[in-house]
Amino acid sequence: MHTNILIVDDDDTIRYLMKEFIETVGYKTVTAANAEEALQALDTDIFEVVVTDIMMPGMDGLELTEVIKGRYDTEVIVMTGYSGDYSYEEAIDKGASDFVFKPIRFEELLLRLRRVLRERHLKKELHNLAITDGLTKLYNSRHFYHELELELERSQRYSHPLSLVILDIDLFKQYNDRWGHLEGDKVLSKLGEAITQSLRKTDSAYRYGGEEFTVILPETVCDEAENVAERIKESIDAKTLYPEGGEPTHITVSIGVTQYVPGEKVTDFVKRADQALFLSKKQGRNRITAVGSDDGPPPAQEDDAAL
Ligand code: GH3
Ligand code: MG
Ligand code: MG
Repeated sequence: MHTNILIVDDDDTIRYLMKEFIETVGYKTVTAANAEEALQALDTDIFEVVVTDIMMPGMDGLELTEVIKGRYDTEVIVMTGYSGDYSYEEAIDKGASDFVFKPIRFEELLLRLRRVLRERHLKKELHNLAITDGLTKLYNSRHFYHELELELERSQRYSHPLSLVILDIDLFKQYNDRWGHLEGDKVLSKLGEAITQSLRKTDSAYRYGGEEFTVILPETVCDEAENVAERIKESIDAKTLYPEGGEPTHITVSIGVTQYVPGEKVTDFVKRADQALFLSKKQGRNRITAVGSDDGPPPAQEDDAAL
């Protein structure tokens, strides 16, 4: 994918020269003559960096920087004359990643642009590391709660359904005991693949705990979520495992499914999915159970310890 840079300046010549220069070094550019045009461009396209003039008629570059940092995932470099009207501190305070003086020295701009892009990629990599489970490559439980809170808000604001699937490997302790922990790890990794392959575009999967996984399904009622759970289960059933030094084998999973009840707390939502999973275990494992909001009180707490 090409790096996309948005150039904002009310001076036609500067805009033109910057575009020429930045494209010569291999980046894609779009230009805007004022803040309004810039925001329109940001609404229709994704930009890694915006390079903006400060002094512009209408909304100035500092205000634009502030708006951009509040609304978009984009870095900003601001340009200003030596006039002293604006300071480096002010620009950084609004969220700019760097600052260049006019008249622009293109070599300097390029160095700064490259540094800002490098830092941006590092930041993204770090973020991905922080939200990903290394073994299964799924998101981790911290990210699960973060995303679940966001989806919950969205579900309430737009009155859209939201469902949750929770899945636990059956008798996984036995598998570890029989084939060893390393072979168990391979199962977790394969399971991550099987789950990912069974999801729709809007669903997201998480390693919730040791051998427990969750799937958040936005815009989805319980019945549809059960279908997704069914697909996940089929894909796991279809995987033959070849533990080193052993014969081909299979694992099964127990699954719980539930739909969000508007107004309820995130913990109650997750608890109900857990109850559904618990029922699957209790009824013999290797099955899917859906629990609605009016399916009666939760099972006794002491039984939970069996999960
Ligand atoms: P149940 O069907 O009731 O879920 O039985 P279970 O044996 O799967 O459940 P239990 O909670 O007793 O044991 C879970 C096992 O999962 C024990 C633990 O060793 C294993 N486990 C958890 N995390 C990991 C991991 O990262 N790697 C491996 N190999 N095993 C793990
Ligand atoms: Mg288990
Ligand atoms: Mg467990």
